[in-house]
Amino acid sequence: MKVGRFEIEQLSEGIFEVFEDGLFQKSNAEDIKAKSQLGKMANRSSSIGINPILIRDGKHNVLLDTGLGWGLDHKSKYVNTSNLVTNLDIFGLSPSDITHVVLSHLHYDHAAGSTFVDDHTSTQPTMPYANYFLQKKEWYFALQEQNAREKPLGAGYNLDELYKLAAEDKLVMVTDTYFELLPGIELIRTGGHTPGHQIVKIQDGGESAYFLGDLIPSEHHLNHYAMRQMDVDPVQSKKAKTLILRQALEEQSLMLFYHSVHAKAGTLDRDKDKKFVLREI
Ligand SMILES: [Zn+2]
Repeated sequence: MKVGRFEIEQLSEGIFEVFEDGLFQKSNAEDIKAKSQLGKMANRSSSIGINPILIRDGKHNVLLDTGLGWGLDHKSKYVNTSNLVTNLDIFGLSPSDITHVVLSHLHYDHAAGSTFVDDHTSTQPTMPYANYFLQKKEWYFALQEQNAREKPLGAGYNLDELYKLAAEDKLVMVTDTYFELLPGIELIRTGGHTPGHQIVKIQDGGESAYFLGDLIPSEHHLNHYAMRQMDVDPVQSKKAKTLILRQALEEQSLMLFYHSVHAKAGTLDRDKDKKFVLREI
């Protein structure tokens, strides 16, 4: 996909079952068969994709979110799993070619691929030459939540492997609501899902795209304004969502969904009931 001078790729780690307690399981034929059974249990699951984004402009290679990172660790049992490294390989890139990493927030389904454990059991940054950009608010909220006794439902924080990035000074803690990462790539703090949740706007030559993180996780969430179990601040989510959707419709921006299984990207339209619909590309 092209947005002005930027070449945008949606990478994919595959399709996962995510359970209410935040456990992830890779989907396979067996799981899909067993799903009707699981649906009756208290800990229900739903299918989600994990789709990080690669943006290239000839000079920079920018990664938006780093996925679950299965199979990256030395001695991982998930040897044939698709992850950042296998995905970048498809485009002739290696993790050392990545110049910037942006983390929408630090829930582990968005950030765990940021590091891996090497064969000396030492944690290493997956993208060795990149800085990792996140909101300062997110880092402090994650530290606080990590120690909280009651954990909310869904994917949570697992900071253990991110401390290394902090120790090596690879984390760039953004404090601005709007932050220019590179000309044409802007980080926008939305809050809502988590206090330091951010999305990314890409624009060049009159064209634009939004990477929506968990503000709008998939095409199925376009008309669901309240996600009470998922969002720390549902009212703030609704505010941010209303604003972004209005803008994206007007600008006919490309919408990039991190958790979609089917329609991962498209532009917006409204149907006769004024509901948003996605025109897939
Ligand atoms: Zn997520």
